[in-house]
Amino acid sequence: MGLAEVDKLAEDLSLIVSKRYVCTHLFERIKSSIDTFPYEAEREGLPYAIVMPKSKHEISEILKYANRTKIPVFIRGSGTSFTGASRYRFPGIVISTHRMNQIEIYEEDGFFECEPGCICESVAREIEARGYFLPFAPGSRLIASMGGLIANNTSAHVVDASVGKPSDYVLGLEVVLPNGEIIETGTKGLRRPAGTDLTKLFVGGDGLFGVVTKIRMRLAPAFEKAFGVAIYSDLKSLAKGVQRLYRERRPLPLFMEFMEEETAAIGYKIKGLQIPRGSIVLFVSIGNSKREASERANQILSSLIAEHPIDAQEIKDIELWEKLWSSREVIGSYLMQESGNQWSSAEVVSNLKRLEECMEDARFFNRGLPVLSQLKLYLFGHIGGLTMHPGVVIPKEWDNEKKKKAIDEKFQREAELNLKYHTCGGEWGQFAKRTPFFIQRYGEESYEIVKKMKSTFDPNNILNPGILEGPFQPYNSTGGIK
Ligand SMILES: Cc1cc2nc3c(=O)[nH]c(=O)nc-3n(C[C@H](O)[C@H](O)[C@H](O)COP(=O)(O)OP(=O)(O)OC[C@H]3O[C@@H](n4cnc5c(N)ncnc54)[C@H](O)[C@@H]3O)c2cc1C
Repeated sequence: MGLAEVDKLAEDLSLIVSKRYVCTHLFERIKSSIDTFPYEAEREGLPYAIVMPKSKHEISEILKYANRTKIPVFIRGSGTSFTGASRYRFPGIVISTHRMNQIEIYEEDGFFECEPGCICESVAREIEARGYFLPFAPGSRLIASMGGLIANNTSAHVVDASVGKPSDYVLGLEVVLPNGEIIETGTKGLRRPAGTDLTKLFVGGDGLFGVVTKIRMRLAPAFEKAFGVAIYSDLKSLAKGVQRLYRERRPLPLFMEFMEEETAAIGYKIKGLQIPRGSIVLFVSIGNSKREASERANQILSSLIAEHPIDAQEIKDIELWEKLWSSREVIGSYLMQESGNQWSSAEVVSNLKRLEECMEDARFFNRGLPVLSQLKLYLFGHIGGLTMHPGVVIPKEWDNEKKKKAIDEKFQREAELNLKYHTCGGEWGQFAKRTPFFIQRYGEESYEIVKKMKSTFDPNNILNPGILEGPFQPYNSTGGIK
């Protein structure tokens, strides 16, 4: 598209949202097309324009316009996706949801409704202040949008088997379909629909089937909490302790994180804690009263203790707990800030039976990989959910091609391991860089079904093209999409 055509596009879009909310500055175009990957934006993927609508009607009009003109549209929350879903490979219109940031709490009805541009942390604060709990706890909670979280149905730190997935709390949605039609799904009651419920397609829908413009979630009462820590001299015993929790039918914790010894040492040092002599497990148990939460913490501890940790105890000193917990939270950002380089991790998920073996594989995640094996590996994760995040810090002085190779190797090894354990990621979405994994894991037939679903909703492939196709869809130099 030439300059004159971009001007015309901006003019057309200004008739839908006001001129003030249409941007074609180069800086904004670059900023709105990059994500967490360490390599630079590519010219072919730079959007023509960024629009910042305020309502579903404006989004609907933009999508109708895009269908008429066959210009791709990309929905953007905060652009923090880890799978490449927010790294566009085609030029088009980026719809930023950040102005759609209203939240309404309906305590009498037992739910809240929010717009997709609301930031996770603000929603959590608003509902926590009234005694409720938000079932999202990603490391990106200060920045990730509710629309992005819903599109991924991410469990993040939350142990699925303890309180369920976010989708279990979503009562209904308002969605603008790729053709511009606006639909409502679900219910305003607290009983979620039996049978076919389109809500399920959009929550965890990878942004393929429509733009979520309103999210209705059940107000779940907050829990009382108790905290615990265990230190193991080896990862095998740590894994066995976690397996015991499930096998001994313990009340599962809300969160259970782990850090391998060397990684833990970094976090502990930053927080001024005495360096541990082993790998760490940190957990949050829940109950209806402090006493119940503490009793449950002790039940969890009894399983962990059976595998002979160096130390295991309930933590009652809240200040100490906050230091311990944040020692896990700060690692990625500390490593990046220290070197100015870019953090990158994978999502390796074990099945219960082979957790020990999977942890060993995660510990040597980069072994034998031409580019990634040049880097030091750090290991931590949401071990209560049997998830490990082996990660590396990618040097900023590496050239773009080498950085890309590193990311490709990461997804390739992640796929190998999740295939080996017959699992899948539970946090970051199924497609984009993960499309090859989806096909290997579930077969061509399953992939064809999703493609057909996509074309039923979006016959012109207008919305978020490239995510479903993943690395298989080449850039079409005419500027359009195949
Ligand atoms: C420091 C850091 C820590 C992180 N920690 C975690 C973690 O612990 N767990 C975890 O799961 N992830 C984590 N992430 C990844 C990321 O924050 C999540 O994947 C988050 O869900 C993405 O939200 P976003 O607003 O940035 O979405 P974006 O990146 O903007 O979008 C992600 C996808 O959702 C789609 N989408 C966005 N809004 C809508 C909408 N309204 N309707 C339909 N589709 C939409 C987009 O088109 C895209 O496909 C982390 C990222 C960072 C940078």
